[in-house]
Amino acid sequence: MDIRGRRQSSNIEDRRGMRPVRTGVGISVGGVLILLVLSLFGINPLPFLGLATQEPQVQMQDTGQPYQESVTEAQYRELVAVVLADTEETWSALLPKYGVNYVEPTLVLFSGMTISKCGMGQAAMGPFYCPDDRKVYIDTTFFDELSQRFGAPGDFAQAYVIAHEIGHHVQTLAGTSEKVRAAQQRMSQADANAMSVRMELQADCYAGVWAHNADRSRQLLEPGDIEEGLRAASAIGDDRIQKQTQGRIVPDAFTHGSSEQRMRWFMRGFETGDPQACDTFAAAQL
Ligand SMILES: [Zn+2]
Repeated sequence: MDIRGRRQSSNIEDRRGMRPVRTGVGISVGGVLILLVLSLFGINPLPFLGLATQEPQVQMQDTGQPYQESVTEAQYRELVAVVLADTEETWSALLPKYGVNYVEPTLVLFSGMTISKCGMGQAAMGPFYCPDDRKVYIDTTFFDELSQRFGAPGDFAQAYVIAHEIGHHVQTLAGTSEKVRAAQQRMSQADANAMSVRMELQADCYAGVWAHNADRSRQLLEPGDIEEGLRAASAIGDDRIQKQTQGRIVPDAFTHGSSEQRMRWFMRGFETGDPQACDTFAAAQL
């Protein structure tokens, strides 16, 4: 990809360098009154402190200093900002054709750990999308891992990962995520996993739709980019990851799809540029 001079999205929340901290024993107003009354009656309020406190709260602690990024981290941030901007162009042009208004998501850059409405996010989990706060979370050290551990280097491999997460945002806006979550509650674990695979493959297909548009409308792609994207799609297939981590493949436990399926659906999106071609839920064969 040639990202020089491209628009960078402003929908980035930079939490790098911040740490989640317990804001600890927050005492409620009612709690303060109880403790006050107890001490007025000459009772030591300390043993009752636990009763008066609220649930421990977690907040991100800002160091107050701007984050000092390395050269590589700065390159990653720029790439993320350009790809995010390009997904905004793509989806805000495409979705209204299907009666869906595109609401731009926020992308959170974090280092190590961060809070989200879906729970604590950790770098080891890889990038993720939280439908409850409609934010994409990325610790860019994942890009190093993608290159070194998963053997998928290159800026387009990274772009594919971002576009996949944005694909989940599109599913949320389109109402697909909610329907799938509701259906999964009434299913066996194996069937629910099979539904997850269809969700993930659709997000891959949407990543392909983005790549199609970035290429045709804005000539963002360079020779070799699609191969980089396919290598990433293949590298993070469930079968490959399971083999690396457990040494065997358990298809029932697949939640993202096999390497081959992930490449196939990415290519379907890329070749057609049409989100309607991404109906993995209607497909007899994935
Ligand atoms: Zn996903």
